[in-house]
Amino acid sequence: MKIVSTAKELTAIREELKGSVGLVPTMGAMHNGHLSLIRQARIQNDTVIASIFVNPTQFLPHEDYEKYPRREEADLKICTLAGVDMVFMPTREEMYAKIEPEISAPKDLAYILEGSSRPGHFDGVLRVVLKLFNLTRPTNAYFGKKDAQQLYIIQNMVKTLFLNINIVPCDIVRESDGLALSSRNIFLDEKERVQALALSIALKNASQAIMKGERDAKKIELIMIESLQDLRVDYAKVLSRDFEAKEQIVIKETILLIAAFVGNTRLIDNLWI
Ligand code: AMP
Repeated sequence: MKIVSTAKELTAIREELKGSVGLVPTMGAMHNGHLSLIRQARIQNDTVIASIFVNPTQFLPHEDYEKYPRREEADLKICTLAGVDMVFMPTREEMYAKIEPEISAPKDLAYILEGSSRPGHFDGVLRVVLKLFNLTRPTNAYFGKKDAQQLYIIQNMVKTLFLNINIVPCDIVRESDGLALSSRNIFLDEKERVQALALSIALKNASQAIMKGERDAKKIELIMIESLQDLRVDYAKVLSRDFEAKEQIVIKETILLIAAFVGNTRLIDNLWI
């Protein structure tokens, strides 16, 4: 497995590659969620590139950029074992110049949900993802449904900027008790780890109500909020899969989305209905 840290080196290697290339962008601190993306990429591509970069532009000034878990050695082991061909691990200086064009995610998509408590977050996501796409020129790029809004905004960028890349959405990987895997779960202490289950339970309660025939979006949102008990809820929303509010739930066209604080840790989860 090659480990590459400069754009120049990556570009030179990419020039020589034949066949399909699968890109798995990550911020590291890898878990089985990341691994499932890599595995899917491994099956579907001749070459698999994983990137590990804690992207400063997608963190707001008060957020956990400095504190974000960094575990390069363990990540590289995981990548080696999973059959990754190349890991791209650039520095901040390598990825960003002092002066460069601004990239803005569409306001309608990027300033709701995650973007309303994290304004500018998706601008930073698109900046780094576009740079990674340009450097690796992937055939396929793998993103988790766990970050459903991010996935949709990236799909929108690829479609509207006519990028010739196939975006592959990957299912959410969960612990056996339902908690969605996240690099931020390591911030949870024992008590918070139990409290965090409220997110997946809320989604389950909501989906059970839908299965029983409830279609009123507001009622389903209430069920989620009630199930989140003592957590500080950022949002608990029922939206169409193109992220528009609808009064009625339509099966196969709906996402349930939650963000809530467990102690100081902000967790997100969602369920595609
Ligand atoms: P991150 O390192 O948090 O930026 O995540 C890198 C990629 O892994 C993103 O596309 C995430 O959506 C995806 N991912 C993170 N957690 C999970 C999970 N539990 N299941 C599936 N994909 C995930």
